[in-house]
Amino acid sequence: MRLLALDFDGVISDSASESFVVALRTYLAFRPGSSLMGDASDLMGTSAPLLERVHGAPAYAAFLQMMPLGNRAEDYAVVLAAIDAGLTIIDQPGYDRFRAEQDPDWLSEFHRRFYAEREGLSGADPEGWRRLMAPYAPIVDLLRRRAVDAVLAIATSKDRRSVEALLRLYGIEDLFPADRILDKETGPSKRLHVEVLARRFDVDFPGITFVDDKVNHLDRVAPLGTRCGLAAWGYNGDREIALARKRGYLVCTLAEAERQLFG
Ligand SMILES: [Mg+2]
Repeated sequence: MRLLALDFDGVISDSASESFVVALRTYLAFRPGSSLMGDASDLMGTSAPLLERVHGAPAYAAFLQMMPLGNRAEDYAVVLAAIDAGLTIIDQPGYDRFRAEQDPDWLSEFHRRFYAEREGLSGADPEGWRRLMAPYAPIVDLLRRRAVDAVLAIATSKDRRSVEALLRLYGIEDLFPADRILDKETGPSKRLHVEVLARRFDVDFPGITFVDDKVNHLDRVAPLGTRCGLAAWGYNGDREIALARKRGYLVCTLAEAERQLFG
């Protein structure tokens, strides 16, 4: 392996709490009468709630469980609408059916408003906002130890400013100079991220390992001949792990990732 390309959310950064808070605030702005309002009293306001409050919210576990079924900000609307309706969706076909029942205009408005809420929160309480996104400590340590063994790069759909702020907070900003961070401006497809990295660092595709916590992102990249690994500590579950194994991807764990990736 000459280059290790890593997704950010769910691989380096545990951002689920932040996504939940921003998604819930967005959802309740549209549906203030929702049953989820009871959940939210501790989580609303302009500043960021404490992590313990987020983890204690009754809807948080269901949110985590359904989150892997979606891809984009508006999927949080779908997940919260399911929770609001008292539904537990356990598989992709069920999720896709429920998603198709949602008003597409509402979903695109949710998408817009979600990013405005995030911007509002990160602006009003930057410290508290960053504290909602803890690093996966073993990965941070691994990257520090292995920085000399491969080119390290980030392939994310997050925005560069947030990624750089969090890398500073995690103490690993020096490992990722600007040209090694490909953010959402590169495009929605991780395949494009990997193609740009291959060109930029003159590495062939088999010399690259790509780690993401979403199987569908690995599916786009795998045909390039790049080695793909699912970050099993991220936002996936048994369903996704079984799928990754079936496709022949590495299934990396926090305890084993170093050996699995570097041999
Ligand atoms: Mg991810």
